[in-house]
Amino acid sequence: MPDSIRDITRRIKEQADIVGIVERYVPLKKAGTSFKACCPFHQEKTPSFNVVPDKGIFHCFGCGAGGSVIDFVMRIERLEFIDAVKQLAKELGIEVPEYGGGPRLSPAEREQEDKRHRNIQSANDFALQWFRANLKDNRNPKANETVRTRDITPEMVEAFQLGAALDGWDYFAQAARAKGYSDELLIDAGLCVRSETRGTVYDRFRDRLIFPIFDHLGRVTGFGGRRLGDDPETPKYLNSAETELYKKGRSLYALNLAGKAITDAGYAILTEGYMDTLMAHRFGFSQAIASLGTAFTSDQARLVKRFARRVFLLYDGDSAGQKAMLRAGQPMLEAGLDARIVVLPGEDDPDTYLRREGPEALRARIEEAVEFFDFALNAAAAQLDLASLDGQGALVEQMAPYLLAIRNEVARESAITRMLAHIGGLPKQAIYQMLERLKRRAAPRAGDQPAPTGAGPGQRFDPLDQVILRAMLESYEALQIVRRGLSESWLRDPRLEPWILHLHYGEGDAEYLIEEARAAGDTIGDERILTALLADPLLRLGDAKHTTEQVLARMKKRHFQAVARQLIRSLQEISDEFPDRTLRTIQEECLLAFRTQIPKASVEIL
Ligand SMILES: [Zn+2]
Repeated sequence: MPDSIRDITRRIKEQADIVGIVERYVPLKKAGTSFKACCPFHQEKTPSFNVVPDKGIFHCFGCGAGGSVIDFVMRIERLEFIDAVKQLAKELGIEVPEYGGGPRLSPAEREQEDKRHRNIQSANDFALQWFRANLKDNRNPKANETVRTRDITPEMVEAFQLGAALDGWDYFAQAARAKGYSDELLIDAGLCVRSETRGTVYDRFRDRLIFPIFDHLGRVTGFGGRRLGDDPETPKYLNSAETELYKKGRSLYALNLAGKAITDAGYAILTEGYMDTLMAHRFGFSQAIASLGTAFTSDQARLVKRFARRVFLLYDGDSAGQKAMLRAGQPMLEAGLDARIVVLPGEDDPDTYLRREGPEALRARIEEAVEFFDFALNAAAAQLDLASLDGQGALVEQMAPYLLAIRNEVARESAITRMLAHIGGLPKQAIYQMLERLKRRAAPRAGDQPAPTGAGPGQRFDPLDQVILRAMLESYEALQIVRRGLSESWLRDPRLEPWILHLHYGEGDAEYLIEEARAAGDTIGDERILTALLADPLLRLGDAKHTTEQVLARMKKRHFQAVARQLIRSLQEISDEFPDRTLRTIQEECLLAFRTQIPKASVEIL
């Protein structure tokens, strides 16, 4: 089945390098975790146009223009939505099926598909809670034993939301059925399997330590499980089956936790597995992520590039690890990433190395990391007889794809020189000619700049309301906390309220609800508000869960303070009008209680 248009737009947003695309039109300057420029959509002398790569958005605080990479291309190239999608999809190598010009999916079909997605998400959410509760309550002692022997701290268990699958055939299926989940849905969600022979439904994850997999927005999309028993018949590691929400080659383990550290440091550390990533974090390498039981893909390379341009590959030191790094390097070069190889001793994996040598030793290895091209060159050279012409030709042939993948001319020139140092004699010109033949089309042309648009950015938002809305936009977990804890009457900002309520009462994550409203042509509120919030560098969210809980508590307090003030005022008015000693006393006591219970400082913060 071809991907739906929503899947395609989602993939574009995940994979497109918004910085690279905007840079074709406007020169960008790095400013913290975002990039700045003078806005291409209105006349200005000081830059108020921002690109925030880790959120995949742009926003201009001058004219209010903002949105995703698709919105940017629509505006700057003056394209319709579907044409902008097609252009970007083509560039990223994503196939867009022809929809015959008519509606892309009928409303009924779309409703059907949306409902499926929501149900799968709900089953995943339930599974996550169930697995976690199992570990917390020691319902599979082997899991807790593994956590102890592998030195996984309680903080790591919490941060990575580890869980346990029980030792039995269908404990999960039973628990899920009791909550009303159908067998079909559990199979669709990749959580259960139907036995071919007996037709019974059983758990996919049995007797395993569970590593939930989250997307970059914090939604749980799948699970990985490490075997706890020593049954050699079952694989040591097992991943969720691919579902509509979970595609192995498009997700990266721990990116939800590591994203910010990666942006701050300017690099990511890529490992091969859950445990390596966990241990790296445990020893302070919070930029560690992992590909998920697959070779590293170009989709994943583009996803990483939204956070940083440099990647250190930290794989096992043995020859299998080296081969895997060679495979991972090419999509990285093609994506324009600066890939570096961290070389570990042959007998080590990152986990064993860290335990024996400690984090400082690994830090030193990272500092000495080898540029990917040189690593590949040495590996190829070691296999070939470079004294023979055949061997020399083979080296050039093997290195050609890597050379072509290097986009930067200076870097490529330098790489060619390094390659020639191994073989000498061969004229550089011959290499260039060969590369020229293989070279693909040049970068797309830059378009002209459209006229400025109207409408200013608006004034400051209510400080609490804006934090809540940003948290709801950024984190699925925060969104769920708000849904459980927010009361409408606590809101203060009429510009933000429609969006907050739309997300509060909707089902599914923020991105989905916004796209749904857009597709239905609903005008909920000014959409520029959303990108303005997301691009605001002063609005620091930190730990979304913690912040959300804090802000909800403050909103609640603010609300009841206002109610109390109103009550006291009413009492005052009544006792002024009907001088009565009892009333007066009640009023004074209320006032006193109000003043002593609520410290002045906290009133001022609000
Ligand atoms: Zn502007």
